[in-house]
Amino acid sequence: MRSKIVAGNWKMNKTLDEAKALTSEIMGMVADEVKGDVKVVLCTPFPYLIPVKNILGTSSRIAVGAQNASEHEAGAYTGEVSSVMLKSMDVPYVILGHSERRQYFGEDGKLLAKKVDVALKHGLIPIFCCGEPLEVRERNEHEALVCRQIEEALFHLNEESLKKIVIAYEPVWAIGTGKTASSQQAQDMHAVIRKHLAGKYGQAVADSISILYGGSVNAANAKELFACADVDGGLVGGASLKSREFVEIIKSI
Ligand code: PEP
Repeated sequence: MRSKIVAGNWKMNKTLDEAKALTSEIMGMVADEVKGDVKVVLCTPFPYLIPVKNILGTSSRIAVGAQNASEHEAGAYTGEVSSVMLKSMDVPYVILGHSERRQYFGEDGKLLAKKVDVALKHGLIPIFCCGEPLEVRERNEHEALVCRQIEEALFHLNEESLKKIVIAYEPVWAIGTGKTASSQQAQDMHAVIRKHLAGKYGQAVADSISILYGGSVNAANAKELFACADVDGGLVGGASLKSREFVEIIKSI
């Protein structure tokens, strides 16, 4: 059985005090209201990982994640943060290949393959993002592009390594726009991704991978999206910055 996961991507938002308050609120509501075995991940800015972890403590069912990590392990790379550092801080998850990283920082499949390798080498769980821009969908080339993004960054992995990856399908036109994919569009693409994984690694491996949907998920649309057979949870941006909204999304799974 693959895991159900709801991850919040805080991006570059919140002051430290706001981040602490948000964490405490989410933690309290999750403890009181969330039943079942959904995994919750808070992907905070780097400086807040330890303060947020300290609030969550060891008993919490909520984990933290980083939003990026370097392709290098250490060295003269000013401003970068490595998977080695994240592991030494007991951070279990890292988002890799978010469309904002691809768009604003020029990250491509070749670089992401290296980042994935280093993250896995140091025991992190990559939440690997893929997804097409609007013009690609309009040309009806979205399935081919997403399959290519997955091939470029993940298909060099052996079966054992691939099974550690979480995939997030995030159509670029739905990120931060308030325009979510329909549940049919999400299900169709998730099924394509799973079929593509099955073609390379076999059905059992493909069935074990959690594939999250991301792109303007909110409390009103989460239930329908999460009800799709191949949607195993969500990667949530804007709505993860509001405790009540985020917890309602978690409860929708
Ligand atoms: C994201 O940042 O991964 C995301 C999906 O953002 P939003 O939910 O705001 O569209």
